[in-house]
Amino acid sequence: MMIAKVIVDIPVKETDRPFDYKIPLEFESFIQPGMRVLVPFGPMKRLGFILSIETQSEIKNLKSISQVIDPTPVLTKELLSLGKWLSTETLCPRLFAYSAMLPAVLKGNYKKMVRINDQVSLAREFPTLLDTLLNKPEMEWTELLKKEPEQSDSLNAAMKKGFISIIQWIKNDRRTYKKIRYIATSLSKDELIDVTSKLDKRSLKQKQVLEYFINQEPHLKVEISDILKRLNVGRSTLKQLVKKGFLDETTEEVYRDPYADKEIERTTSLSLTTAQKNALAPIQESIRSQSHEVFLCHGVTGSGKTEIYLQAIEKILNMGKEAIVLVPEIALTPQMVHRFKGRFGDEVAVLHSGLSQGEKYDEWRKIHEGAVHVVVGARSAIFAPFKNLGLIIIDEEHETSYKQEEQPRYHARDVAIFRGKYHQCPVVLGSATPSLESYARAKKGVYHLIQLLERVNQRSLPEVQLVDMREELRSNNHSMFSKQLFERLEDRLEKKEQSVLFLNRRGYSTFVMCRDCGYVVQCPHCDISLTYHRKQGMLKCHYCGHQEPYPSQCPECTSHHLRYFGTGTQRVEEELTKVLPEARVIRMDVDTTQRKGSHEKLLKAFGEGKADILLGTQMIAKGLDFPKVTLVGVLAADAMLHLPDFRSSEKTFQLLTQVSGRAGRDQLPGEVIIQSYSTEHYSIIHASNHDYHSFYDQEMQMRYRHHYPPFYYLALITLSHPQVTKVVDIAEKIAGHLKKGLSSDAQILGPTSSAIPRIKDRYRYQCMVKYKREPNLLALLKRIQEHYPTGTKNDDLKITIDLNPFIMM
Ligand code: ADP
Ligand code: ZN
Ligand code: ZN
Repeated sequence: MMIAKVIVDIPVKETDRPFDYKIPLEFESFIQPGMRVLVPFGPMKRLGFILSIETQSEIKNLKSISQVIDPTPVLTKELLSLGKWLSTETLCPRLFAYSAMLPAVLKGNYKKMVRINDQVSLAREFPTLLDTLLNKPEMEWTELLKKEPEQSDSLNAAMKKGFISIIQWIKNDRRTYKKIRYIATSLSKDELIDVTSKLDKRSLKQKQVLEYFINQEPHLKVEISDILKRLNVGRSTLKQLVKKGFLDETTEEVYRDPYADKEIERTTSLSLTTAQKNALAPIQESIRSQSHEVFLCHGVTGSGKTEIYLQAIEKILNMGKEAIVLVPEIALTPQMVHRFKGRFGDEVAVLHSGLSQGEKYDEWRKIHEGAVHVVVGARSAIFAPFKNLGLIIIDEEHETSYKQEEQPRYHARDVAIFRGKYHQCPVVLGSATPSLESYARAKKGVYHLIQLLERVNQRSLPEVQLVDMREELRSNNHSMFSKQLFERLEDRLEKKEQSVLFLNRRGYSTFVMCRDCGYVVQCPHCDISLTYHRKQGMLKCHYCGHQEPYPSQCPECTSHHLRYFGTGTQRVEEELTKVLPEARVIRMDVDTTQRKGSHEKLLKAFGEGKADILLGTQMIAKGLDFPKVTLVGVLAADAMLHLPDFRSSEKTFQLLTQVSGRAGRDQLPGEVIIQSYSTEHYSIIHASNHDYHSFYDQEMQMRYRHHYPPFYYLALITLSHPQVTKVVDIAEKIAGHLKKGLSSDAQILGPTSSAIPRIKDRYRYQCMVKYKREPNLLALLKRIQEHYPTGTKNDDLKITIDLNPFIMM
């Protein structure tokens, strides 16, 4: 008897262990670990992942697997063990870990259909099977296995030979199957000439088509849309020829390719500078010796890191291996994608949130089926199901978006290192502003530090000038542009050079305040101020979605002197048109980039010189490379300096450095103006001097003094409940357990109310653990998690446990 150990999709903590199921005979020949199955669980059928296949079980009266969902494993052996590790390290059910590795399409229970790839071979080797398939064209393959168990061997054999394949049928994607129709002829040249001469004299168009085929290679297959255009004939002409048996029409399913209609110019390797060669050498050595090592490539913006990545990948491809490249979601601009597609063409799959579900599935499928060897993608691309990984690159490794903020709460860097060890391959972390954690590790020798301290071809880093906006105010300038910035903008307009204006929006909202009593309009459900959306004239809560119209009077004192504060990109744009009416401005923010492709269009227009000023938020800070940009203005450098987050200085430094890096990337020298209300803050001063090392030293002192990473690890436990007494009570109990269970070196802070004390009418409390080495911590947290099960109906308590948290609110 064969037994499968299955992780079942039940959202209760106690079931986070494998269950045994009998494998019915008809599945025995092909069932494997890593496939998804449907299994009976209580009265329901549930989705599950097969972990392993055994020959015996301790349990009597086992139930049987009802259905096998996947014809081939969707999770490799490596990913199965990675999931187990993730579940332990991040305290999440294993099912969540496995689901996180798959494209959304595979998370539902979609239909699987049999697709015939090679009818001729099928007819030759498996005629009965072909018969069945042709008779039941829309049959699901598991149905087929059930109804025709005697066919299961031929089904699997035919699949192995590639005569058929099984594909997911995505219900809600309009472009489920992308098909291309072809037309061809099976007649020889002589036969074609013969039938052409016998055509009715009036059938000019038909004759034209046949003559086209006479002049082509025999048995050429042409796309129908192509031939219709080329010969200027109608669909009916082709149909008549098919009917007469002179031509054959075929349909082929193809991968949806989101980049298919883009002309991407192919590039070849640049000859490396000495600095680049020195940087690449140790990575190559690790590739050559097939040994795992983590490299931290600290290179200033424009130092040629990307070119190093490209050349390292080239080595990997020549060895027949595969590479994963992670870039932050917002850096997945067309420019970045083009650099990889330009070098490696169809070898590259791209995964980012702008793709439709179907497109994402197809990109994943290319990886799964071995049709590509490189993936460039955001965080979750770290789970790409490659089997022969040779290199993992994480660009902009300091980006907080590499940490997932829902279960499994993993950091892509940790997953990369797991996979690097598994495959004995190098992991390269790249950044102009490495995270303190990584740089500290590199200094200790845990990571191999590679430094690129100069830009390619000695282009200088741009000159940065700090402007104190308090001074501006004192000298009676109430505009959002300082005198210096305004003059430079005018100057660039005259010289026909381009400028980028950056508005830091994170933690900076347009709130509404009463000028008489100082009341700030708050969300009635969350303790946070509402954001004013001018276009709709509404106030909105960014946490719960609550909205209300702009109040006509103050809810506190009934004064009518309400005003909104804060600067949005829209307001900057309006002000620009007032003070520099001749400037052409492109604004990029969430509002102007909502529609698919609009992001790319705007950037393209700017690249083609259709605007003088690019104005935008975070999304323009990264990865852009426009040679004509010689001025970068930062409007509010300190907007996130005062967030309740121990990383706020680090984030400010990183962002300012990134933005400054957009200026002067080509022949023309660049200049940067940073406007700030805290010009004396070290993160702003060091950013303006391009001085990572001084920033690092000073920030490390802060971290040391206040016991923050990288000196201490953190674990954040957040509780929420509609009743404040209840949440306080449990938070105190949990803090008690922690104090008892951990060593005296661990610090337990709290319970205190969270930085946002209430969201969606739920009160929020937290405990923070700061620790260096607590071997019992994971087990203790897991016990706490199990003791206060969340998600059960009769209790409204929610507990989230975040190890190495990036969001402190
Ligand atoms: P980074 O990724 O460190 O910001 P890039 O790889 O984008 O740097 O390089 C910056 C610019 O220099 C790009 O326009 C790139 O094409 C160019 N570049 C990089 N390496 C070389 C080289 N070896 N020779 C000439 N140009 C280079
Ligand atoms: Zn008031
Ligand atoms: Zn709210």
